[in-house]
Amino acid sequence: MSAGSTLLIRGGHVALLDDELTVLSDGAVAIVGNRIEAVGSAADVGARYDGAETIDASGKLVMPGLINAHTHLYSALARGLVADIEPSSSFTEILEHLWWRLDRALTLDDVRLSAAAGAIDLIRNGTTTIIDHHASQVHIDGSLSAVAESLDESGLRFNLCFEVSDRNGEEAREAGLAENERFARLAASRQVASRRGSSGGPDPSPDSGSSEGRGSSPDAGRGDGRIGASVGLHASFTLEDATLERAAGMAADLGLGCHIHAAEDVADVEDSVSRSGKRVVERLESFGILGPRSIAAHCIHVDERETAVLAESGTIVAHNPQSNMNNAVGCADVPGMLGSGVLMGLGTDGFTASMFDEMKVATLVHRHQSRDPRVGHDVAARLCLVNNPTIASRLFDDRVGRLEPGALADVIVLDYDAPTPLQTGNFGGHLIFGLTGWMVETVIIDGRVVMRDRELTTVDAREIRARARERARDLWKRM
Ligand SMILES: [Zn+2]
Repeated sequence: MSAGSTLLIRGGHVALLDDELTVLSDGAVAIVGNRIEAVGSAADVGARYDGAETIDASGKLVMPGLINAHTHLYSALARGLVADIEPSSSFTEILEHLWWRLDRALTLDDVRLSAAAGAIDLIRNGTTTIIDHHASQVHIDGSLSAVAESLDESGLRFNLCFEVSDRNGEEAREAGLAENERFARLAASRQVASRRGSSGGPDPSPDSGSSEGRGSSPDAGRGDGRIGASVGLHASFTLEDATLERAAGMAADLGLGCHIHAAEDVADVEDSVSRSGKRVVERLESFGILGPRSIAAHCIHVDERETAVLAESGTIVAHNPQSNMNNAVGCADVPGMLGSGVLMGLGTDGFTASMFDEMKVATLVHRHQSRDPRVGHDVAARLCLVNNPTIASRLFDDRVGRLEPGALADVIVLDYDAPTPLQTGNFGGHLIFGLTGWMVETVIIDGRVVMRDRELTTVDAREIRARARERARDLWKRM
């Protein structure tokens, strides 16, 4: 769709996911360019946009595209990994035996294909925006552009950062810091150029950091509100004081937040206390890592004082229940943190491509843990459908993840013709007991149809998967 063209999604149930959980039956959404212009009844909106290109959503469900607040596309080629991996008896052993071996083996071509294959699964499951945390600890320079190239092609909206750590020595640390800065400046220049471009200026050149640029694409330069950056850090236990200080300084200079794993395992807490006398959140706070644009992923082993620090600093916390269960590291006190005013969103930590799966588990885990069936009732909807849009809107400085006039047009259509009434107020029940990612049929991001009737329109999914399988086999051998 060219800038300024109109797309009408007409018929079916339209779930606004506003405070009242309004569901319009026989609703419609009108999109002009990359923004939603009208939401209402099919009769009213349809009449106003008569003649527009139309997607018939009769008997289907229309809702905002989903947002993943913390993920790692670099792990996409590890699915089904066949390699000589020692069994792990702790979280730090899982990192040493598996993930740190993977992130050192990744080449830029692996990174590119991992992101491309991961993006296909995300879109197929209705995710339209991701906040990714990237690590390829040997091939660092240009790695964020390799991820960005694939995501840009897929049509996703994304915020990227590189995982800085002291665990691989000085050279890797310096390269990691430099990669964050390089990509942040590139993303900022594309945003500025895009704003100029929308008033008739030249397209920005997509400095891809590799020989496989995509400057010849007719879409080059469009949708640069789809690209954002953060300053990435691994976790307190692999970061020296001086590195934390420099990363915080860099983030402040660039006007960005940091994205870091915090108190995911008890080992992180023990390390922080032994090296600084402070718990993890307090150590990060003392170096200026926290703040309204910063994301602290996990925050499982935090005490009351740390929870207050997270709330007062406005820091975003990303909850990843499936990954936490898989790593046997415990479960964050989500009801408690929400009650204390922490802005907590939902991520997958790369465990799954489906936010629908993550929402189900987020609902069940707190209930299971507390042995109280009253607990967790609205956790999933609050984290994923209310807070994630707030988080993405903050990071992208725009209205993301909402079905309302003026918001960026990220919309999904699901083949969901419910056998019970779907009406204002009962969306939560359908979410947990009815909806799954494989029901997603059509995905629109930034006003562009990136998947229609389950077929991606932006990339050749079959070809990417075939190449990804080949690279994965090769990567596994190199691990
Ligand atoms: Zn993570």
